[in-house]
Amino acid sequence: MSKKVLIVGGVAGGASTAARLRRMDEKVEIILFERGKYISYANCGLPYYIGGAIEERSNLLLQTPEGMGEKFNMEVRVENEVLSVDKDNKKVKVKNLKTGEEYDESYDVLVLSPGSSPLKPPIPGIDLPNVFSLWTVPDTDKIKSYVDQKQPKRAVVVGGGFIGIEMAENLHDRGLHVSIVEMADQIMNNLDYDMAQLVHAHVASKGVNLHLGNGVKQFEQKGDVTIVHLQNGEQIETDMVILSIGVKPNGQLASDAGLDVNQRGGIIVNEYLQTSDENIYALGDAIEVVDFINHRKAMIPLAGPANKQGRIVANNICGRQEKYKGTQGSAIAKVFDLAVASTGNSEKVLGKIDKNYGKNYRVTYVHPNSHAGYYPGGVPMTIKLIFDMEGKVLGSQIVGYDGVDKRIDVIAASIRFGGTVYDLEELELAYAPPFSSAKDPVNMAGFTAENILSGVVEPMLVRELEEANRDDIVVLDVREPIERDMGFIDGSINIPLNDLRKQLNQLPKDKTIVVYCAVGIRAYIGARILMQNGYKAKNLLGGYRYYSVVTKDYNTSDITPPRQGIKEEKTEKVEVKSMNTIKLNACGLQCPGPIMQVYNKINDMNEGEVLEVTATDPGFPVDVKTWCEKTNNTFIRSEKCKDHFVVYLKKGPDCCKEIEGMTCDVNGKDGSSMVVFSGDLDKAIASFIIANGAAAMGKPVTMFFTFWGLNVLRKDEKVKVSKSIIEKMFGKMMPRGSKKLGISRMNMAGMGSIMIKKVMKDKNVDSLEDLIALAKKNGVRIVACTMSMDVMGLKKEELMDGIEYAGVASYLGAADDANVNLFI
Ligand code: FAD
Repeated sequence: MSKKVLIVGGVAGGASTAARLRRMDEKVEIILFERGKYISYANCGLPYYIGGAIEERSNLLLQTPEGMGEKFNMEVRVENEVLSVDKDNKKVKVKNLKTGEEYDESYDVLVLSPGSSPLKPPIPGIDLPNVFSLWTVPDTDKIKSYVDQKQPKRAVVVGGGFIGIEMAENLHDRGLHVSIVEMADQIMNNLDYDMAQLVHAHVASKGVNLHLGNGVKQFEQKGDVTIVHLQNGEQIETDMVILSIGVKPNGQLASDAGLDVNQRGGIIVNEYLQTSDENIYALGDAIEVVDFINHRKAMIPLAGPANKQGRIVANNICGRQEKYKGTQGSAIAKVFDLAVASTGNSEKVLGKIDKNYGKNYRVTYVHPNSHAGYYPGGVPMTIKLIFDMEGKVLGSQIVGYDGVDKRIDVIAASIRFGGTVYDLEELELAYAPPFSSAKDPVNMAGFTAENILSGVVEPMLVRELEEANRDDIVVLDVREPIERDMGFIDGSINIPLNDLRKQLNQLPKDKTIVVYCAVGIRAYIGARILMQNGYKAKNLLGGYRYYSVVTKDYNTSDITPPRQGIKEEKTEKVEVKSMNTIKLNACGLQCPGPIMQVYNKINDMNEGEVLEVTATDPGFPVDVKTWCEKTNNTFIRSEKCKDHFVVYLKKGPDCCKEIEGMTCDVNGKDGSSMVVFSGDLDKAIASFIIANGAAAMGKPVTMFFTFWGLNVLRKDEKVKVSKSIIEKMFGKMMPRGSKKLGISRMNMAGMGSIMIKKVMKDKNVDSLEDLIALAKKNGVRIVACTMSMDVMGLKKEELMDGIEYAGVASYLGAADDANVNLFI
């Protein structure tokens, strides 16, 4: 005799079960109950219909009840709610919601796929008519018609999970100013905080306000305006609210029937997806699953698992013995221009299940391009990979623009098959320049993870650096000096990678050298150089780009500001086309990236000319903006095109006031000049330190050596020149060169000078000779005053090479161009 199967819930899990069941058994009697009007609809597409990306409502409705009934020869009863289950007599009580009639229906097998419901805590004002939740098609209709008809200007999204973020984006796309309020200190709970910060940065760049670590106390209606009162006392005025603070499993039906449920109401099932009653199966959001990674019980409400469980339940009803092996939580979301994906366990989850777990796994970050840098359109992504000490991959999170979905799926598949970082290294993935690189981003994650496990390099996480005792470490920036104009880690010293081998003696061997660069590659090479020269070195994972995002606070404190996306900056008014514009294609450049190209190009340009840079690096618009601020050039605006960014800059300061019709009050002076009058060792050191610092900031520096200061420039060896007797005497009495200088106080017949040099050496401070060499390399103009040389009887041959000779007019010219003038 054929079985009678009742299915409760007609969307993801329920509809999948029904369809597979019919395909497996033509004879089985199937009745599908759905309390709503719609079955098998695309709930994942609902936010995009509100935003307008999905134009036709009918595209959301994948099956009509009639269509599904006919196609699969089953009864589909919409607007029929199952009220209770009598498991002893194998029947359910159903209410026809259209007629109010209640009736019983018997079963041989019952399938529960009742899903979950949005949480609605008892916050005062939560029932206001413009406070919405998005879960079903009717919810969608309500929200869409409110937005269409009332044309609200502002929205507050409470809860920064997938649905909240998708709604924030879609309402933003409809032109609303959106604020997100989230109780946790981050949005997108599937990510670790550091990766979530990348998303915060992007969301904030779109002009969406973030109120993190802040809950809602009350919704209050005042006239036309709804006031959202936050727990920290802030108030946000808005026209509508989307509430999306999580879901609870619909386990009540099961629990009332005496089936086992967990503390959260999730239905407990065995590996065959049977409840505590063998004739009742359950699946989808409503059940407790086993976490595939850590084997603990968990609630992971996602469409993929629900659909696959439907297939297993149907197979098992038909007599197979198929096991559900657990959920690993693979998920992806579009967040404005970003793709944000994760699979497996985050550090957060690992930390929660075992406080000591932190010691049993390692993390790596890589920032590879989505495809070969030389082929147009490649954009970087950030991959975080978490793996145990044997190399088994535990989880991954990826944030990027293109190719994120492919990489997370490769890693998800590897995890499924028990893959290790060594497997990721070896994976042979399809490659051609438009699609990937010969070393795919997944391979790169594997390589760096293997380096960590084998001790080739020791990693340091940003949070470890934040917690480290700075007395025990030296933070070494191996980027080029101009990259520091985009910011640097406080207290770090700068030795560009190419100079590192020559300047190793500046670094202490008794401290750990934490090396960083822009994204990690040069730092890795630097750390290897140091390690092989007997230094203790660690590579700061992720580099400065990552550090600067992770340590920034993206919280908004202002209440209802205008949108402030990069696109919408005041300078948007600039008529770029009418100016003399020079183009630079900086797409796909490797470290130090497009900024170096910009620096070189700007150097060749005239003041006031505009540079139009095309770049694929998404971090470039932010980097170049900071660089312009530091170097007194003018950032005009950036535009996001399909697969690249176009940034406009103007050489020189923001005399732009032409741009807004205002008068220019910027003097444009940026240089530093100093008169070095003293021949004292300590004063000479101080002046070169200042000069090098200013030069590293990209400022033009002129040092004008006069009178006793000229001795700093003398060669140490004796040079044969013709001199008068007085000139000879003078020359003998004065110190010959930097090595012979005394200090201004406590010289003690030269002892003080010897002592200070020793202290400087011990503390790894550059010697005066090194400082002079560095100043020359940094382009500092070292000018010897010809008039003083004449007075003191010094000849050009006696002074060091590579310096200029000029009179006081030259100094005055330099001083006129400078905004800092020092007399030492
Ligand atoms: P559902 O698909 O929710 O179906 C349960 C059905 O049971 C409901 O229609 C309900 O009315 C019905 N029901 C409940 N009780 C009864 C009863 N007593 N009698 C009769 N009928 C009953 N997941 C992803 O993986 N990716 C995404 O991008 C994604 N986006 C989403 C966007 C939105 C707006 C929403 C709402 C969900 C999203 N999800 C997403 C989650 C995903 O939709 C769910 O995980 C999945 O639908 C769960 O399937 P289910 O069968 O358990 O429950």
